[in-house]
Amino acid sequence: MAEEAFVSEERAVDTQWGMICSQLKMEFGETAFDSWLKPLTVGDFNNGVMNICAPTAFMKNWVVTHYSDRISKIWEQQNPEIKKINFVVHTGFSNRRTTDTSLLKKISSTPTPQNIYGGNINSSSFGLVAGSALANDASKNPANATFPNPNYTFENFVVGKTNEFAYAAAKKVAESKNVSFNPLFLYSSVGLGKTHLMHSIIWHIKKNNPDRNVIYLTAEQFVYKFVKALRYKDTTAFKEQFRSVDVLMVDDFQFMGNKGTTQEEFFHTFSSLVEEGKQVIIAADKSPTDLEGIEERLKSRLVGGLVVDIMPTDFDLRMGILKKKAELMNIELPSKVAEFLAQKITSNVRELEGSLKRVAAHSLLLSGKEITLDMTQDVLKDMLRSIDRKTTIDEIQKKVAEHFNISVKELQSSRRARTVARPRQVAMYLAKQLTSRSLPEIGRKFDRDHTTVMHAVRKVEELIVEDQNLAENIEILRRTLEN
Ligand code: ADP
Ligand code: MG
Repeated sequence: MAEEAFVSEERAVDTQWGMICSQLKMEFGETAFDSWLKPLTVGDFNNGVMNICAPTAFMKNWVVTHYSDRISKIWEQQNPEIKKINFVVHTGFSNRRTTDTSLLKKISSTPTPQNIYGGNINSSSFGLVAGSALANDASKNPANATFPNPNYTFENFVVGKTNEFAYAAAKKVAESKNVSFNPLFLYSSVGLGKTHLMHSIIWHIKKNNPDRNVIYLTAEQFVYKFVKALRYKDTTAFKEQFRSVDVLMVDDFQFMGNKGTTQEEFFHTFSSLVEEGKQVIIAADKSPTDLEGIEERLKSRLVGGLVVDIMPTDFDLRMGILKKKAELMNIELPSKVAEFLAQKITSNVRELEGSLKRVAAHSLLLSGKEITLDMTQDVLKDMLRSIDRKTTIDEIQKKVAEHFNISVKELQSSRRARTVARPRQVAMYLAKQLTSRSLPEIGRKFDRDHTTVMHAVRKVEELIVEDQNLAENIEILRRTLEN
């Protein structure tokens, strides 16, 4: 209510901003708009310079890298008096509208970084990277406005033992005019940098050989486009599009799927490009031989080039990546915190980066509060708890055996004596509770079938209610296993 008093008269620029906001919302979608653009407010307008205020430095930087070009362009069209748009940080109370505090809630409760930062590029970008073709495509599809991702460059890719070969291969393909290996097939599990390397290749080519025609798309987009072309009986145009290309990049190739005609089409496109000496680059979550639903002849062509995998990160690489990302985000990351994150978050780089972004967002939204180990542990507590939950069945067996003073062998044996059978049931129960293993998987670890495990789980659930002593024992075990 109080801030209404400040809005004494609506300036022309405020009205224009309202219209621009509607346009931005349409172009970038509601989620991105709500997270990044809604909190912006219009500041002073003097001598052709318009100030746009963001509530934090972090948001300002984000808006500058991702949206400022578009905002400036729309505004110039609306109001020729505006010569320049300046993004500034304006913390605290805005004299126009208060900042949107729901953002803070959203950021701190969002589980994954992709959600916070507005979607995954893979699902939305089809990039025709050739002179004006890119611009046209981007303007038709606003999700492409940041394609290729400005952060996904070779300079920003941290090289370590587990990815140096993939990096070298990508670099070589990007740099050489002559095709040295065809195709280049990159594979790894999720979040280890395949898409990053693909975009880095595009950046490199855009910069050094802007005449080369590059098409980047995901296998899903290939399938979609082909099916559409079939439906509209327009396969000639579809084929033409790929024929004129110098470099064809297909990301997430595992989604090429079982589609007979589409795969056939891809096979022909691929073969003719390779024969003409055009570079093909493919990324997938499995090696060509392990890909499911892919025809043998296509698989054998895929292994005909260079197949490179990216292995899971090691501690040193995780430290390097954290340092680099902190630098890019322009935040001060104490080495204690970096070490903690590098030790705890080992699954993949996306999650590592996500945790860093959450901590950074938290610190910056709380007006630049210093990042400390305590704060990190607090901000990430749900995530850390679920990581700690990754208790293994082996550990459970070991701890339970120790606790009841029997051996792991006995626990796994077929002995039915109560002194062994009860701990065995407890171990099965804890395995079900503390791991994400299925009943048959748990059963296998005890040399039993899944019905025995199911029975054990039920039995223990009943006993916990009746038998205080057993309930306490289980609680102690649970606590030691979760720590
Ligand atoms: P993939 O395509 O293998 O699933 P991405 O390329 O999307 O993985 O990478 C996930 C995130 O991790 C991206 O933000 C990317 O920048 C980052 N990343 C992965 N590997 C590295 C690396 N070696 N150096 C810097 N950032 C990396
Ligand atoms: Mg990817």
